[in-house]
Amino acid sequence: MSDTPQNETSEDIVYTSKTEIACDGDGGALGHPRVFLHMENGRVECPYCDRVFVLKED
Ligand SMILES: [Zn+2]
Repeated sequence: MSDTPQNETSEDIVYTSKTEIACDGDGGALGHPRVFLHMENGRVECPYCDRVFVLKED
């Protein structure tokens, strides 16, 4: 077991100001049927394409 920090993973992080997300994988190689995601605690991960949506506060 190593304690490698989680800040250098391959996951895609998308910053958004919305808590309701419609994700379709951006239509690329990771494209998938559109799903609606609802953030909890300021973030939600798409179960299809593994992108992580993070609430942007500014
Ligand atoms: Zn997705």
